[in-house]
Amino acid sequence: MPVFHRFLTNHGKKIGLTTLLTGMVSLSILLTLTILLVASYQSKKKSLIDTTLTLNYSSAIKMSQMIDSLFQSMRSSLRYSASVLIDHPIHTQEEANEHLEILRRTGNYFNSLTVVDETGTIRIVSPPSIGTVGEKLVHKEAQYALALKKPYISSPYISKRYNRLLLFLSEPLYDKNGRYRGFIGGTIYLQDHNILNMIIGSPDTDTPGFSYTIVGSNGQMLFHPDKQQIGKDIGSNTVVKKLLAGNNGYSQMLGVNGDLLLAGYALVPATGWGVIVTSPMEHVYNELHSQVKMMLLYLLPPSLLLLLIVIQLAHRLARPFVHLANLMSKMGSERVEIPPAKHHWNREADLLTRAFRRAAKKIKEKTDRLTHEATTDVLTGLANRRSVEDILQAWTKEKLDFSVLLLDIDHFKHVNDTFGHLVGDEVLKLSAEIMKSSVRKDDVCGRFGGEEFIVLLRNASINGAFAVAEKIRTQIKNTANPTGNAITVSVGIVNSPLHGDSAAQLIDLADQALYQAKESGRNKVVVADSKEY
Ligand code: GH3
Ligand code: MG
Ligand code: MG
Repeated sequence: MPVFHRFLTNHGKKIGLTTLLTGMVSLSILLTLTILLVASYQSKKKSLIDTTLTLNYSSAIKMSQMIDSLFQSMRSSLRYSASVLIDHPIHTQEEANEHLEILRRTGNYFNSLTVVDETGTIRIVSPPSIGTVGEKLVHKEAQYALALKKPYISSPYISKRYNRLLLFLSEPLYDKNGRYRGFIGGTIYLQDHNILNMIIGSPDTDTPGFSYTIVGSNGQMLFHPDKQQIGKDIGSNTVVKKLLAGNNGYSQMLGVNGDLLLAGYALVPATGWGVIVTSPMEHVYNELHSQVKMMLLYLLPPSLLLLLIVIQLAHRLARPFVHLANLMSKMGSERVEIPPAKHHWNREADLLTRAFRRAAKKIKEKTDRLTHEATTDVLTGLANRRSVEDILQAWTKEKLDFSVLLLDIDHFKHVNDTFGHLVGDEVLKLSAEIMKSSVRKDDVCGRFGGEEFIVLLRNASINGAFAVAEKIRTQIKNTANPTGNAITVSVGIVNSPLHGDSAAQLIDLADQALYQAKESGRNKVVVADSKEY
């Protein structure tokens, strides 16, 4: 037995059809709504992630192109400075320093410029505060650049002298005879105000969390919104690895704080650096949640309306079945009313109601007939003895005021013997008719035995009952009958509660009164326990 079914039978609790229909429909609407929300959540999430990745990718490409051309410009600026310095020999040191300062300020690419001769001795510096003319080069990046005799870009390094994170670019100086004359070097102070953060520095306010990172070709960070991170080695990051392997693209990655980021990345060909544009995944979720909230807001009212309509419909659909089931369950235990002849829009409900109506009508007819047969005397149509006794019992129980007439046709045997049974029957019927027409609606006439009748008179005093008895007696006597002779009756009368309060007692006393009437000459009315009237 399935668990559900067992549950129902074990506990005797049955679910109503209305509840069942409403529950099922509500459940399916809720499920549909949930599926709709989940599905659109998933597809929106995917499209938001894709859009963000593509956007970040194109930003990275643009930025890489920008940095690329920036470095071309920086190089040509250095080259230009170098050519100016070589072609126009400078006489005094001040003049030389001033000249370099002007070159640095006009280009505005470098935080400092240095001119070094082929022996590694510093010849000119700008700004003048950063070094001493005449000193020898100490830093190995600068020594490497000097020995290289070619354009050079360093990795970020910390200058002990200035206690700064630096990036160094240099262009060799050759005189017109092609002789190597040293180099002109430019430095960028990575953690200070510099050309990179001038270009990238201001974060995009439209997309919160959107940020640029620039990594050097050795995996060190050259630019990051958080200055403390600059110089940090992130070469182990998967995106940085792909980037430094020469790939552009986009993917998800973990940020320095361990949060999930959507990254687009592109290589800067001129420098071998990488640009990474990231936005936090959290931003996608925030966007997603607000979109789902909006969707819920749009979906909820029509769904609720639908729910209400469907619940209403379920109620209407279930109503005739519920009504019929309730009627059916009463069948056999109480009187079942026949449902009104109403048409239902549902075919089965309509068929069932009609079938039930037909069945109930038939059952009612049959029951009515059986009841009638069980309580009625066939010949006279009066109540039979059993049903009169039941009514008498009920009246005594209810302690009603009433009188009882017990009537017996005089010498009826003689009628039968002389005119035959059929005529006797006619006399019985006629007498019954007279009795019935002589009493009120609330009174009961019954056939008590062969030619013996009983009349229960509700709220009738002795006098009232006597009058009725007299009326019956005279009317029977005076009414023409098939025998052609007058038919007479003798009547015994009792009153409750005057003569007794039990049915047996009353019948007994009425019988005695009837006996007295017979004894004293018949065609008489005698009240129990009293002299003849
Ligand atoms: P009394 O005046 O003392 O009442 O005499 P009676 O002849 O009326 O009384 P009795 O008890 O001697 O006879 C009653 C007769 O009624 C006997 C019976 O055959 C007859 N009878 C009983 N039931 C029916 C019936 O349904 N139809 C007919 N035709 N006769 C019946
Ligand atoms: Mg009799
Ligand atoms: Mg008789």
